[in-house]
Amino acid sequence: MKSELLLLIAVSLCVHSKPLSGTAKRTFNKLLLISFDGFRWNYDEDVDTPNMDALVKEGVKAKYITPPMITMTSPSHFTTITGRWIEDHGVVHNMMFNSTSLLKLTHKATLKRSEWWDNGALPLWITAQNQGLKTASFFYPGGGANYSGQAVDRSLVEAFDHPDDNETEWRQNIDTVMDWFTKEDFDFVTLYYGEPDNVGHMVGPETNERRKIIAQIDRTIGYLREAIQKNSLANSLNVIITSDHGMTTIKKNPDVKEIKLSEYMNFLTLTHFDLLDYGGFGMIRPRKGQEQAVYDALKNAHPNLTVYKKEEIPENFHFAKNSRIQDIVLIGDLGFNLNSRFIFYVNKGDHGFSNEEMDMKTIFRAFGPDFKKNYLSEPFNSISIYPLMCKLLGVKPAPNNGSLSDTEGMLLENFDACGRIHISVSLLTIMTLLSSLI
Ligand SMILES: [Zn+2]
Repeated sequence: MKSELLLLIAVSLCVHSKPLSGTAKRTFNKLLLISFDGFRWNYDEDVDTPNMDALVKEGVKAKYITPPMITMTSPSHFTTITGRWIEDHGVVHNMMFNSTSLLKLTHKATLKRSEWWDNGALPLWITAQNQGLKTASFFYPGGGANYSGQAVDRSLVEAFDHPDDNETEWRQNIDTVMDWFTKEDFDFVTLYYGEPDNVGHMVGPETNERRKIIAQIDRTIGYLREAIQKNSLANSLNVIITSDHGMTTIKKNPDVKEIKLSEYMNFLTLTHFDLLDYGGFGMIRPRKGQEQAVYDALKNAHPNLTVYKKEEIPENFHFAKNSRIQDIVLIGDLGFNLNSRFIFYVNKGDHGFSNEEMDMKTIFRAFGPDFKKNYLSEPFNSISIYPLMCKLLGVKPAPNNGSLSDTEGMLLENFDACGRIHISVSLLTIMTLLSSLI
């Protein structure tokens, strides 16, 4: 009876721990966010993936998730890490560009260029660090930049010639991240892999090479599961595995009439700047006074090409309200790349198409001490990963566009209860005092 009463008191103190603030301090588990670039939502369906299958039973799987418009690596990754739409975080393309000076930099050349990434939206690394956590980025896009002068505590940035598919290196990177958690007490780490995007571009998504790289990813996830056990992190590390967009097969002549914009307009006389020949999304800045002429030339030019003036871009795309978005925006139907003057584009697979297309949807898996087991989540927008990560880490979120209601159902029912509140010395004193009175 006495012990039952004590338990009741303890539970009630625990549940009402708020008024005791300062006496009860909750601790939060660590978090690892892994992104496999270009992992289409259904890539595991035609490959044997025993480790990913095991994760379905051990944790959470979403049927699929929807990346933001524009379905590209840097814009989408930065939405995941900031919880902001692309028009708010300003990373509107993989290429850094300036439509006045005509500067264009490749994706990898942007990775340390803070002026491309730092537009006022704080990524989670920085928000978490400002609240006392230790964070790191291993190749994750945006992790190499400074935000209002602040750098991520530890950041590794991919070199230009970094190979995407070296399985040995993939395992070494997991070992490194495990060391960061165990030996250096990092709280939050983001880890990025360039596959299966690279293979998807080179040979297309419906190929044996793509299936082989998914099997390699599955083995890597198996290695991760073992590493978590070996490092005794199973009870203190949550893991989210996701991606930035899907992949689709590019439609080519003679099956279709490809889009080549120079057939419909004169670039030399009408355009000042263009960002084309980069998958299914493109932008044009016309010469002064030629906006309507460019629009008229392209509007009904090709049955698989959609043309918007900036002010016509549908609001639900959430990328119009940014000064980096140019006057004319072009989107190809699924599989139709936007070629400007020549068709030299050799990619067999690509992305950048509408995020409503199933081929652009991507994956979400999660497991660890705070996640339910064998839980199948309905689809949601990738932007809602951000508030989930904040909740897992106990970080007060920066302003964001995500919805915790999309994702919190995957957490254990007692996440908000006192399961992991560490009973402080003063709380123990109260309990001891009470026990002596009973
Ligand atoms: Zn890509």
